[in-house]
Amino acid sequence: MSNTQTSGRSIGNVPAPRTGRTVTAAQRDIFRRIPKVELHCHLLGAVRQSTFAELAAMRAAPVTSDQIASFYARGARPVGVLHVLRTLEKHILLTPDDFRRIAYEYLEDAAREGVRHAEFFWNPTATIRDAKLPYAALQDAIVAGMRDAEREFGISSLLIPSIDREATPDDAVAMVELLIANRDDSVPGIGIDYRENDRPPELFAEAYHRARRAGLRATAHAGEFGMPWTNVATALDLLQVDRIDHGYSILENPALVERCVERGIVFTIVPTNSYYLRTLEPERWAAEHPIRAMARAGLKLHPNSDDPTLHNVTPGGAWELMYSHLGFDIAALRQMMLHGLDGAWIDTARRTAWAAAWPIEFDALTTATSWQESTLP
Ligand SMILES: [Zn+2]
Repeated sequence: MSNTQTSGRSIGNVPAPRTGRTVTAAQRDIFRRIPKVELHCHLLGAVRQSTFAELAAMRAAPVTSDQIASFYARGARPVGVLHVLRTLEKHILLTPDDFRRIAYEYLEDAAREGVRHAEFFWNPTATIRDAKLPYAALQDAIVAGMRDAEREFGISSLLIPSIDREATPDDAVAMVELLIANRDDSVPGIGIDYRENDRPPELFAEAYHRARRAGLRATAHAGEFGMPWTNVATALDLLQVDRIDHGYSILENPALVERCVERGIVFTIVPTNSYYLRTLEPERWAAEHPIRAMARAGLKLHPNSDDPTLHNVTPGGAWELMYSHLGFDIAALRQMMLHGLDGAWIDTARRTAWAAAWPIEFDALTTATSWQESTLP
C-alpha cells in the first residue's frame, strides 16, 4: 500500500502512484506548510461532515446519517456532487448564520493547510430561491465569517458569487445586479460553474458584461468535463475573464494555448478532478492527465482542492499529488506557488511582498529533505 494513503483511502481517491516516489510524513507536513493561496474551492463542497450531520439533526432534515456518510465516501459509485449540493441548499443551510459558520470553518481548515489567502465560490441563486433568504443577509453572513477567520487564523479571503449553469441567463444577470447593489471589497468578482455539457458560456455573456462594466473581476469554469476548447476561448474573448478554472481541453487548440501562454493566463487546476478519474484507466491516469501536457506547453498552472471535504482532499493534499502522482518536481511546485499569486485578486503591494517572502520560506522548508526523481514517462 502506498504511504500516500490516509485512513485507508487515498487522497482524492486517485489511483496508486506510478512515479516511483513515496511521500514521508515529514514531506507530507512540508506540502501542508508551504505558503499558498487557494483560488478554486466551492463553499458547499467544503462543508465538514460533522457540521452537515449536526445541522441535519437540528433541522430534522429528510436525510439519514447513512446517507450523509455516503455523500462523503467517494467509493466506486459516489453520490453525485450536485445531489449533495441540492440537499444542502434545500434542507440543511436554512439561515444566514449557517453560511457564516461554514465559511468560517472552511477557512479554519484551509489555514491549517498553509493557505494564507483563499478565493472561494458560492452559488447564491438556488439558496435565494429554495431557502427564501435575501442575498444581502447571506453575503453579509459569509463576509462576517471571513472576517472572523482572518482575525483568528490570519487567513485573508475573497468571496466569488458564482453562476450555477443550471440557472437561466436572466437569473445570472439578476445575481450580478444583486452583487453590484451590495458592493463589498471582500466580494470582488464573479465565476460560473457546474454543468458545462449543455450550457455553454455564451449563454451568460450579458451577466459577465454587466459585471465587467461595474468593474468586477471574472473567472469561469471552462474546458472541464471533456468539453470543447471553444468554451475556453469564449470565456476569454466574450466573457473577458481574468483566469480560467480547469481549462484542460485547451490542449486541443495549440494556437489558443500559445495565446494564453503569452498573456500569462493562470489556470486553477484540480488534480483530483473526477472526470479524468472516471475516463482514464488507472494505469494511465497520471501519465495521460492533461495537467502534465498543460505544464509542458508553458501554461501557468495552480493546484487546488475544489470540493475538499466531498472529494477527500485538502489543499496540502492537492499539492502533494502534484509531486507524488503527477510527477512534478519541487522547482515546478515553487513556480506554481508564484502562479497562485499572479492569479489572485489581491492588491499589488501584497502580491509584491508575498512574491518576495514566499520563495524564501518555500526553500527553507523544502531544502532539508531529499526529493526523488519521477519515473513517469
Ligand atoms: Zn470547481
